[in-house]
Amino acid sequence: MPLYRSISKVVLGDGERIGFWMDDWAGCGALCHALPALFSHATHPHTSVAAVVRGGLRRALAPRLSAVGEREFTALLPRVEALQLSGQPDSRILTMCAKRTGELAVGELYKLMQFGGVDAPFADFVWGGFAPSKAKFFAWLLVQSRIQSRAALFKKHVLSEEEALCPICESERETATHLIFACPFVRRFWDAIGWSFPVDADVRRLFSYDTPVPRGSKATSTLTILLCWNIWKHRNGVAFRGERASLPRLLSMCREDAALWELRAPAALHDEAVAWPSLLGTV
Ligand SMILES: [Zn+2]
Repeated sequence: MPLYRSISKVVLGDGERIGFWMDDWAGCGALCHALPALFSHATHPHTSVAAVVRGGLRRALAPRLSAVGEREFTALLPRVEALQLSGQPDSRILTMCAKRTGELAVGELYKLMQFGGVDAPFADFVWGGFAPSKAKFFAWLLVQSRIQSRAALFKKHVLSEEEALCPICESERETATHLIFACPFVRRFWDAIGWSFPVDADVRRLFSYDTPVPRGSKATSTLTILLCWNIWKHRNGVAFRGERASLPRLLSMCREDAALWELRAPAALHDEAVAWPSLLGTV
């Protein structure tokens, strides 16, 4: 997750768990930001350092590089060739918001993000429920339209206009709002589970929409995050693993997470959470 990465630093071991493009293993910031032209040619943006060392930098890239990409390639190649990976697992050290055990202290992070006294109207929607931390971070970025959508990468000049199209419908630019509300595929998903949103629905107002489950309940906000999180995971399967968009698969992913997240529900919300699978249909 971008946020988690921004508050942690990586210590390279065997390179299996450190993102070649997404983590700062080279000491110059994440390569996706440090070498944007080269990154735009990456065939697998989420590949690990170990995979690139094994296969070679050239093979991690599309066959033809732009002139700037070629220059960045030449600059980076010696660093990659000089990399000595050890047999030790990689580690990731939180540089802030860490508990004494080294785990992430979500409460501390929440305070950090409230820094400056800005009490975001969606803070309780995101942090108040019982979704797993990684899904909460995703939701926190989502409601601010700050997820790494293709439109966001286009804005940062990482992707071209053509590459910024939605990987699912391939007809419109993939903004966070397109992904969650406007894509024809996702509209079929919301229809299938009987949730409806205004035609001009926007992710920045996600926390304020009426849903078939009681609004304002922490179980409802958690379920909303669960659905959006799975739309995102399904999209990543299409964008990065060449999977086909599939409504039955997305629904079954949601049901699987619902069964797991339900176990996290505090006692007072247990009854609401056990009803989730029945809300998600059997399509
Ligand atoms: Zn689309």
